[in-house]
Amino acid sequence: MQFISTRGQAPRASFSDVLLAGLAPDGGLYLPESWPLFSAAEIAGFAGKSYQTVAYEILSRFAGESFTDAELKADIQAAYAGFETPAIAPLRPIAPSSNGGQYLLELFHGPTFAFKDIALQILGRLFARALNRRGGKVTIVAATSGDTGSAAIAALGGLANIEVFVLHPRGRVSDVQRRQMTTSGHANVHNIALEGSFDDAQGLVKDLFAQTEFAKAIGLTAVNSINFARIAAQAVYYFTATAALGKPATFVVPTGNFGDIFAGEAAMRMGLNVARLVIATNANDIMARALNDGVYASGVSHATLSPSMDIQVASNFERALFEACGRDGEWVAGAMSDFAKTRKLVLPALVLQALRARYSAYACNDDDTIATIKAVAAETGQVIDPHTAVAMHAARRIPASATPTVILSTAHAAKFPDAVARAIGRNPAMPQGLKKVMDLPEKLDILPNDLTLLRQFISSRLAL
Ligand SMILES: *Cc1c(COP(=O)(O)O)cnc(C)c1O
Repeated sequence: MQFISTRGQAPRASFSDVLLAGLAPDGGLYLPESWPLFSAAEIAGFAGKSYQTVAYEILSRFAGESFTDAELKADIQAAYAGFETPAIAPLRPIAPSSNGGQYLLELFHGPTFAFKDIALQILGRLFARALNRRGGKVTIVAATSGDTGSAAIAALGGLANIEVFVLHPRGRVSDVQRRQMTTSGHANVHNIALEGSFDDAQGLVKDLFAQTEFAKAIGLTAVNSINFARIAAQAVYYFTATAALGKPATFVVPTGNFGDIFAGEAAMRMGLNVARLVIATNANDIMARALNDGVYASGVSHATLSPSMDIQVASNFERALFEACGRDGEWVAGAMSDFAKTRKLVLPALVLQALRARYSAYACNDDDTIATIKAVAAETGQVIDPHTAVAMHAARRIPASATPTVILSTAHAAKFPDAVARAIGRNPAMPQGLKKVMDLPEKLDILPNDLTLLRQFISSRLAL
């Protein structure tokens, strides 16, 4: 299978090239040249199979020419061996009697207690394998709104020939999230607290890629959700959840960079029958406004109780736009370059129509988030995290129907004890794996939002 760029100007690339590169050289995002298709019978057959088996069935369709069956199987087994539950992504009924039933799809049972582990645990292993084969060194620079950083460190910390720089917005991630990143103790991990927002951090990473000579010299690459391997790995749980239910569901997805929900579109394009994909945002509602008003325009970034979604530029939306416009790379390139200049893109009627056929969107403020955590705890005894609460709030607003609703539960409540305590009056129980980071020494550097200083910092750490 070959991959193409959403901006139409990059040469076709193999899965391992896409994995190691992250962003396409024309600034676009990679997508498969054509989507692999699963028949209804194949999908129904996923019911009762292990998560790892389904992951292999799906990933091998993308990666089968770059890795052998044995390599893929070994890496998938190892990736999920450290998860707390053999189901990996268990589907938990939360309101079975209402309409089609309501379920939490729990995606936080990996080593860092957020859904980013599900893709990054595999990606790290495949990445090391591909790098080993190709030779050379790489420098990963990741912008994180809180959870990608620790998941990337858990997946890549301590590996040879890989240096990992993680930029988080200073003071905008939870204490637990910061400590998970800064206490790893790995010599190849460099934490930067950036004086700015997540969008500033993501912008700096994109600017670094644009400095092509420097990027080449350091072997710059990305493991953010712009890396297609993450989308492929995340598509798996849409299949396993649907197979477990035995019928199509509406998926409600707490959305920031649009990676997790685009994995749902990817699953649909691979043949999965999904009733609807519901985008749930916090006050950083660029995606809700895009869908509801037809204008994709970034506003000022708000610090909220669901910090992993404090994002005003949803990078993966470019992939959905590419599909919605009939894969017209030239149009996407023009639209993205206009957006970069004006911070605004008016969606053409046909594109908007195509998006609305698949997606709905709702925004939720902090008061609603707190009220939802409180209500869910009172009604069900379940303590949900603020990101899951944003999705639950959206789920409670979608019109009633006989279709099951699956709410993606993206983080463990204990990662956000302050918000949870505000809602239910007590701290959530802290799993051992999180408790330990609270006492370890932290290592981080503070940098202003400045490309030149960031380059200098990276160069000095790489001893260039
Ligand atoms: C990253 C993250 C999200 C948002 O996912 P995107 O793929 O960026 O849309 C939601 N919830 C949590 C807990 C996250 O870590």
